[in-house]
Amino acid sequence: QIEIRDLHKAFGDLEVLKGIDMTVERGEVVCVIGPSGSGKSTLLRCVNLLEEPTSGTVVVAGSEVTDPDVDIDRVRRRIGMVFQSFNLFPHLTAMENLTIAQRRVLRRDKEEAARIARANLKRVGLSDKETAYPAQLSGGQQQRVAIARALSMDPELMLFDEPTSALDPELVGDVLAVMRSLAQEGMTMLVVTHEMSFAREVADRVVFMDGGVIVEEGPPASVVGAPEHERTRTFLARVL
Ligand code: ATP
Ligand code: MG
Repeated sequence: QIEIRDLHKAFGDLEVLKGIDMTVERGEVVCVIGPSGSGKSTLLRCVNLLEEPTSGTVVVAGSEVTDPDVDIDRVRRRIGMVFQSFNLFPHLTAMENLTIAQRRVLRRDKEEAARIARANLKRVGLSDKETAYPAQLSGGQQQRVAIARALSMDPELMLFDEPTSALDPELVGDVLAVMRSLAQEGMTMLVVTHEMSFAREVADRVVFMDGGVIVEEGPPASVVGAPEHERTRTFLARVL
C-alpha cells in the first residue's frame, strides 16, 4: 500500500533522508523507531507530500505521489494522519471537529456526517464527549478525537507521528489501546513511536532509522528483541 524507493530529502545542504527503501503492505503495521533527528517525521511527511522529496519515488495506494501530475489532494484524502500535537479546531466541539472535513471535502450531508462522526467517537470511547470543546478534554481524549476525525474520512491507511509523546504518562495507554484495536481491525498503519512495548506487541515490522538511513528492519522480536546492529542496541538501551 505504501512503496518508497530510494527516497532522498535535503533541506539546503542538510541531507535528512539518504536513500530510503520501504514497503508497507495492506493491513500491515510498521513502526519506525530511531533517535531524534534521524528523519522519521520527514519520512512520514514525504508519504503525503507535506514535504517534497528531493528524489526517489513514493507510491501510496496505487498513486505515485512523486509524479508531478498527481492530484495530491485526492491521494491525501485516502491517508489519515495523526500528529504529536492534536491539531483540533479549538472553537469547534468534538462532533464539529469530526464533521467539518467530511462535509467540506467529502461533501457528505449533515446527517450522514453526524452519523459517521458518532460511530467514530464511539470507536475511540468518547461517545459522551460529542459537545465538548478541545479545552474541556484531556490530552489523551483530544488525541482520540483527532484519531476519530481521521477515521471519519474513511482512510485507506493511517500515518501516526509520535501520537503519544505529548501526553502525560497515565493518558498514553488509552490512545495506544485505540491504535491497537485499529491494527486488529486490519488498518494499514505506519507509526513513528517511542513506545517500545507497542512496537513489540502490535507491529508486524519494526524499522530502525539513524542518520537518514534504515539501519535495520524486521519483526519486532528481532529488531527490538535481538538487534543485530550496534547502533540499534545503543538506541534501545537508551529508550527501554
Ligand atoms: P524527532 O524524534 O525529534 O521527532 P525525527 O527523526 O522526526 O526527530 P525529523 O523531524 O525528520 O527527525 O528531522 C530530521 C532532520 O531534518 C533534523 O536535523 C531537522 O532539524 C531537519 N529538518 C526537519 N524539517 C526541516 C525543515 N523544514 N527545514 C530544515 N531542516 C529540517
Ligand atoms: Mg519527529
